[in-house]
Amino acid sequence: MAVMEPLKEYQQKRRFTKTTEPVPKKKSSRSGKLFVVQKHRASHLHYDLRLEMDGVLKSWAVPKGPSLDPGVRRLAMAVEDHPIDYADFEGIIPEGEYGGGTVMVWDRGTYIPESQMTSDFGRGELKFTLQGVKLKGSWVLVRTKGRQWLLIKHRDQYASTADITLSDPRSVVTQRTLAEIAADEGGNVAKAATGDPAVLPRLFKDGLKRRSPATSAKSSI
Ligand code: MN
Repeated sequence: MAVMEPLKEYQQKRRFTKTTEPVPKKKSSRSGKLFVVQKHRASHLHYDLRLEMDGVLKSWAVPKGPSLDPGVRRLAMAVEDHPIDYADFEGIIPEGEYGGGTVMVWDRGTYIPESQMTSDFGRGELKFTLQGVKLKGSWVLVRTKGRQWLLIKHRDQYASTADITLSDPRSVVTQRTLAEIAADEGGNVAKAATGDPAVLPRLFKDGLKRRSPATSAKSSI
């Protein structure tokens, strides 16, 4: 694979006159160890897992989303590095543009490397502890071939057979569903709604206060 300048592929795939996705600016988050999972209803629903490493967000598209069950291996396709700024992006990518559809910040926080991330990335085995709102505890990403990796939960106190994609389907930043994000921001509501569970869990069950999307969507780590 040719060595490319960081984020060149990210920039080449997007027209920043059309999409409101961020132009790369930040070189690091405050922690330097940010992670985010963005639920993305593009041509298909998937969950984009991103880990801050060496000034970019290393990224994997996980079609079925993360599983808390250590017996379940979830396919994670490596995709182009994203800028640190991307962790704040929740909204609409216009139809016809790369990744066109609705994006939600599904979970976000920091991670603790369980080993040396840069060399482990090259070896195709990353171990890390997530400190998110939804995802916690120890995980591993293992490369099988090419861009294919597997995302697996390690056994610990956070392992569970509950399906967190169904029990916690909303934005961790604005508490919106995909359909609500699309409705608020001029996206395709019917398409976005196909990424929401048919039966939504009751809102505010954890005492979460709904915040104004206009102010909270821009909050940064
Ligand atoms: Mn995506």
